[in-house]
Amino acid sequence: MPKRVYIYTVGCQMNQLDSQLVADLLDQHGYQVVGSVRQADVILFNTCSVRQHAEEKIYSLLGRLKHLKRQYPEKIIGVLGCMAQKDGEAIFRRAAHVDLVVGPGRLARLPELLAQAAAGTRPLLAISPWSERSDRQTLLAGFEPFDPPRRPQHLQPPFQAYVRIMSGCNKVCSYCVVPRVRGPERCRPPEEIHEEVSRLADAGCLEVTLLGQTVNSYQYRSGGRTIRLADLLSLLHQIEGIRRIRFVTNHPRHMSDDLLQAVRDLPKVCPCFHVPAQSGSNTVLRRMQRGYTVEFYREMLARIRQTVPEASITSDFIVGFCGETEEDFQQTVQLVEEARFKNAYIFKYSPRPGTKAAELYPDDVPLDVKRRRNHQLLQLQNRISLEENQKFIGRQVEVLVEGPSKFGQKAPQTQSSVQLTGRTPCERIVVFPGDRGLVGQFHWIRITGATPTTLLGQLEQHPIEVASCRLERGNWLPVISQ
Ligand code: SF4
Repeated sequence: MPKRVYIYTVGCQMNQLDSQLVADLLDQHGYQVVGSVRQADVILFNTCSVRQHAEEKIYSLLGRLKHLKRQYPEKIIGVLGCMAQKDGEAIFRRAAHVDLVVGPGRLARLPELLAQAAAGTRPLLAISPWSERSDRQTLLAGFEPFDPPRRPQHLQPPFQAYVRIMSGCNKVCSYCVVPRVRGPERCRPPEEIHEEVSRLADAGCLEVTLLGQTVNSYQYRSGGRTIRLADLLSLLHQIEGIRRIRFVTNHPRHMSDDLLQAVRDLPKVCPCFHVPAQSGSNTVLRRMQRGYTVEFYREMLARIRQTVPEASITSDFIVGFCGETEEDFQQTVQLVEEARFKNAYIFKYSPRPGTKAAELYPDDVPLDVKRRRNHQLLQLQNRISLEENQKFIGRQVEVLVEGPSKFGQKAPQTQSSVQLTGRTPCERIVVFPGDRGLVGQFHWIRITGATPTTLLGQLEQHPIEVASCRLERGNWLPVISQ
């Protein structure tokens, strides 16, 4: 009887990928992934530490398992990911029924750790040594890479995949725990990435999203040559079967011209850039140790728009950071007004223990002020997102149909025609009525309406015979064959 494992994941795409790789690795070790804690012999939480809220959620879920653990003491409960690395031993003190704590830099050891736990060796702690005084090499040695050979046949959905091209981060943003929980930047060899994407393509994958904390700082030196993201994109662009290539998350300091030209000239590379700005005030950016000024960020936006005019640009902002004055905030409002992002993720500052910001600066912006600024910026961004989306009404866009939309998921399985969802090359979400059989295919949709977050459309009944596409990506405008 295979051992049954349940994996619960919170956090970013990197965490989603780690959980997929853990599921695949354990499946290769005789485990079967199940859908509930009751069915499972092993219950794993893959955690996030970017905000306090994400951690509290896991501790409350762990609390709810206390009774189940008392009933079934043989069950193994494990905490993986960024909170595991950050809190380590403290998790056992807060939740004594946890058997296993495994950081991102130790995930490759999971099968062996689970075998030890099943044999009765509990609790088990496996995290990477970390100290502010350690040099880069020592830290790198502690954070073992976790890129086990994946079996594309287990990909869900089979036509889309995340691919890690680098792990960790070399930046020192004062509010961020990532370098401490995922270690220094480590770039994977391009051949290894090419081989992985080729195997995914052979198994029917159509779209890959390349992942890195600062993905555009990717560079790999070998044989006296330095491979940068632009080179890697050209390499992956040649892979038959792959139709779309995306990459997240960018850092403003690494938005090089060769990367922009690669996005402009390689049709499979999607013209969308996620580039967190975090603030529009130089005073705040300095305190955040972001390593650029708002003028630099504006100049970067201008270069993107000049080289890839049809690109969509999205961003992140933290409001209420230590010492943020009303004037600082108004500078952020001004940046958002002029930047016209497709959308932006806006967060209230949440001090993270162990970060420079928590050490150096008081969390002095009152919560109600944080809330008001968050609300104001969100309202402004939603207005801009709606206006930008309304420009698509009447146009035709090509989407990769990903599945039933949230609304469509409520329809009975027997109902063949439901509301489906898919994304354009520029990462706009489109919903439209259609047959479930369209999932995993590319289709043209005529846009009939828009909201700040979504385009509404109709399947193009008589898809226009596309002789070629005029380069206005984000929205391939077909040149109708005469
Ligand atoms: S770039 Fe800054 S915010 Fe992003 S992961 Fe690295 S340290 Fe954190």
